[in-house]
Amino acid sequence: MLKYFSIASSSSGNCHFLTDGVTNILIDAGVSARKITAALAANELRLGDILYVLVTHSHQDHVHSVAALYEKYGVKVITNKLTAAELMKDLPKKAIKGVYTPGAAFAIGNIRINTFPLSHDAPCCNGFRFTGRTGESLAFATDLGFADMAVVDALAGAGLVVLESNYDEDMLQTGPYPQTLKRRICSATGHLCNVDCANALKELSSRGTRYFALAHLSDHSNTPETALAAAEKALEGTGCSVKALPKDGAGPVYILEKTEIWSA
Ligand SMILES: [Zn+2]
Ligand SMILES: [Zn+2]
Repeated sequence: MLKYFSIASSSSGNCHFLTDGVTNILIDAGVSARKITAALAANELRLGDILYVLVTHSHQDHVHSVAALYEKYGVKVITNKLTAAELMKDLPKKAIKGVYTPGAAFAIGNIRINTFPLSHDAPCCNGFRFTGRTGESLAFATDLGFADMAVVDALAGAGLVVLESNYDEDMLQTGPYPQTLKRRICSATGHLCNVDCANALKELSSRGTRYFALAHLSDHSNTPETALAAAEKALEGTGCSVKALPKDGAGPVYILEKTEIWSA
């Protein structure tokens, strides 16, 4: 059984928790250790219980407290080669306990992790697909300019898909950001908009996924209601369930069991 919840998910900080009951993993650590501590405590966990931080890419909203977690709690950092090089500006080399190759698979304990590259303006950004011992699976992708068939294939069939739904096109264009930032966000190496996310969810629902979580919503160019409306419209009539992850604080909690995922 895999259990997953988000600790923070927005443009100002990202951190997620995944466990199979033995191996506890943070996906990114882009908020303060204090915030992570509070979210873990709400789930009867402590930072000392965290063994690994799996890092997607080197942007601050994903790595803010990686060095602090290593220094205070000795967490093992696992990331790709280019992100490791960025992290080592603040982190000793020995903190990096594993380097994954984009597109390759590895295991932490009994959790198998398939990685897949994402188009984003960081040195190397990746999505992950986690599979537990009895085949239950969660696929995770944030910080991507587009979700092409390679990305959809990497996510397809997972029990839960956590996918970025970063911005609403109208809110972005009429919002407060300077033109250069607007162009960056909606470029092929920026972020995924609500409509592109919703289209991916529709395809994924036809390939077996029933549960979706919308992640990394923009603070200024999106609202949970707007993102959910786009996703729900695309998923109409499929019987699938979708939630927007809260930008601040823990939730919602998903428990993935093969029987639950595949019984419908
Ligand atoms: Zn990023
Ligand atoms: Zn980000």
